[in-house]
Amino acid sequence: MDQKTAPKIQMVDLKTQYEKIKTEVDTAIQSVIENTAFINGPEVKNFQLELEKYLSVKHVIPCANGTDALQIAMMALDLKQGDEVITADFTYVATAEVIALLGLTPVLVDVYPDTFDINVEAIEKAITPKTKAIVPVHLFGQCANMEAIMALAKKHNLYVIEDTAQAIGADFTFSNGDIKKAGTIGTVGCTSFFPSKNLGCYGDGGAMYTNDDDLAAKIRMIANHGQSVQYVHDSIGVNSRLDSIQAAILRIKLRHLDEYAAARNKVAAYYDNAFANHAKIKTPVRVKNSNHVFHQYTLQLNGVDRSLLRAYLSDEGVPAMIYYPIPLHMQKAYIDARYKSGDFPVTEQLCACVISLPMHTELEEKTLSYIVGKVLEFTSK
Ligand SMILES: *Cc1c(COP(=O)(O)O)cnc(C)c1O
Repeated sequence: MDQKTAPKIQMVDLKTQYEKIKTEVDTAIQSVIENTAFINGPEVKNFQLELEKYLSVKHVIPCANGTDALQIAMMALDLKQGDEVITADFTYVATAEVIALLGLTPVLVDVYPDTFDINVEAIEKAITPKTKAIVPVHLFGQCANMEAIMALAKKHNLYVIEDTAQAIGADFTFSNGDIKKAGTIGTVGCTSFFPSKNLGCYGDGGAMYTNDDDLAAKIRMIANHGQSVQYVHDSIGVNSRLDSIQAAILRIKLRHLDEYAAARNKVAAYYDNAFANHAKIKTPVRVKNSNHVFHQYTLQLNGVDRSLLRAYLSDEGVPAMIYYPIPLHMQKAYIDARYKSGDFPVTEQLCACVISLPMHTELEEKTLSYIVGKVLEFTSK
């Protein structure tokens, strides 16, 4: 198959996914327009209830995006200027951004080389008397070691704010057999409904989850201008809402979420098989206690010129992305006298060698075969 006959390949194909649920989605959007309950309409409440049920969590509080979710969660926990918050160096910037924005001190730690998850021993070493919270990121779709992190948090009396923007629907299994959904294990979980996320709407959206009644009330208040009763403001808040149209779309897509995760796992299995035992390609390693919902399928290259591979793939109609090219501690905005090049060797190495292949719910075998063929063609040179 040459490029002219090759299917148009995308990192994420939201159009084909939409076409399969078009009637339902169009009807739901039209109905919101007819009702004009654009803000805080019944769709938002119903989505909240349905997501609570899906996650088996007491409270879901929708908000405007995943970054807001992290920010509001930290505001609701009354973290104060100078408090230290530990998070991974290898993550999307939003995680560290909100910590810094609130005047808290981001404390970065390295990740595990095989699974990309935050290194628990490194967290423990980073704890000081000023540490107030840990923000594990369930990167690329599988859970960080929440059992070990919760034990550490308990021992040192710390909050755990789960960044589950990439792992909605993933399950974590504890050693006693208990199974919990990503984001429902710590003090509070934060997620994003950005279109390309596993549960994506058609604009921006996010949510926080918690089993703590008081914290839920506080989060709800902060997301709504610090307002408890209308026009009574008990604390400084923000304005962060999920639109009714987005909620209506999310209600439909939530019903398909498990089936979407299964489709992503099928793609991952295809890639795993195709690159198994390849001398220059390492496929993603699964952690023991979490299933994977494959927000991203990320390879590690060894002895392959990544830029040349990416350019070659691009010429052949195969997109590929680098998540993430620069460690947080090397980003201009986060340069800090505490950190220097070489401090987080795993993250630095990963930033230099990772590449993510197209991963979405609509990838067919002939497309996968084309993608894999092109990667193998280049890497066997
Ligand atoms: C997408 C993402 C966010 C932020 O979500 P937005 O809805 O884009 O604000 C935060 N953390 C991680 C790990 C993400 O992938």
